[in-house]
Amino acid sequence: MAGEPQDDCLFCKIVAGTIPATIVRETETTVAFRDINPQAPTHVLVIPKAHHRDAAALAAAAPELAADVLRETQAVADDEKLESYRTVFNTGTGAGQTVWHAHAHVLGGRGLEWPPG
Ligand code: 5GP
Ligand code: ZN
Repeated sequence: MAGEPQDDCLFCKIVAGTIPATIVRETETTVAFRDINPQAPTHVLVIPKAHHRDAAALAAAAPELAADVLRETQAVADDEKLESYRTVFNTGTGAGQTVWHAHAHVLGGRGLEWPPG
């Protein structure tokens, strides 16, 4: 069911603390932790604690929780002292989504080209 923890989900396991992560922020509804394979000096993932398969499913099922995730991206940027940063939600395998628990990538600390690859 949407929102329920999934036994086979890596990020649900990070929320539960059964897989370690470098957590940089936590709220009642979200966790932010450093990406294991950083693509920029700052590369933090912000996730809802509840399981939703992607950003659109999250926004449809729990819009206030989606807003919590977005608010936390700015909080991460503030903590990391980033003037500019990029928030990315990969959706679907063709766009590079590999973990099926909604997550915002917060990337910064270097020049970011636009359009992205
Ligand atoms: P996606 O490709 O789904 O948009 O993003 C998934 C991200 O999760 C990737 O950037 C990948 O490096 C990161 N990732 C995968 N496994 C782990 C892990 O065990 N710990 C952490 N901290 N990040 C992970
Ligand atoms: Zn999950």
